[in-house]
Amino acid sequence: MRLRWMKIVSLVLVSAAAASLTLAQQTPKRITKPVKPPKGAIVLFDGKDGSQWVHRGSGKPFEWALVDGAMEVRAGTGDIHTKQEFGDFQLHVEFMVPLMPEAQGQARGNSGVYLHGRYEIQVLDSYGLTPGAGDCGAIYGQAPPRVNACLPPGQWQSYDITFRAPRFDAAGNLTEKPRVTVLHNGVKIHDNVEIQHIPTVAGLPGPAVKTGPILLQDHGNPVRYRNIWIRPLNL
Ligand code: MG
Repeated sequence: MRLRWMKIVSLVLVSAAAASLTLAQQTPKRITKPVKPPKGAIVLFDGKDGSQWVHRGSGKPFEWALVDGAMEVRAGTGDIHTKQEFGDFQLHVEFMVPLMPEAQGQARGNSGVYLHGRYEIQVLDSYGLTPGAGDCGAIYGQAPPRVNACLPPGQWQSYDITFRAPRFDAAGNLTEKPRVTVLHNGVKIHDNVEIQHIPTVAGLPGPAVKTGPILLQDHGNPVRYRNIWIRPLNL
């Protein structure tokens, strides 16, 4: 009888250890220094040179601030996007949302990373919240992150995004919607999720496309970006 109880107790302990391991695996990683781009990556922003980016609409040089090795949204100057367009890719972006204790919800550190300029991976101060489809890491308006992997405002965070472009037949009809996998601070928050082919809110208008730019949103809050690189893929 005692042996049986010992077995049960040890089973519970082993299960608890396994559960805590799973939680540990999901602990967001702090970025102590920028993650180096791998071989073959195109550096889109190295902290100093913003020449790969233009103002949305005019195509002219953007007016965001360059501060402390980062690009900072200058409210009201508009979204910016890469000059270059991409199909399938792996994208690394580091961002920092400001501490805005007086603000709430969508007004608290809002920006966004738009894939093909059309599909927003939301940037927001959602630290500690139960995430919805408008929170940080969400495919905006479509899919909340599987878990909240946010770090507190004022800290550098990362997105590592694998994007598979939509596919078309010879006549140009959409045959496969785009798909995305997102790691937020090293935690997988979307796993090969199909994105609706309509643009998410405030993205570039129009139907799905084979290639598009990376777009960063001016939502009126001084969000910062640094160390952005991309690796074109054939998925
Ligand atoms: Mg946004």
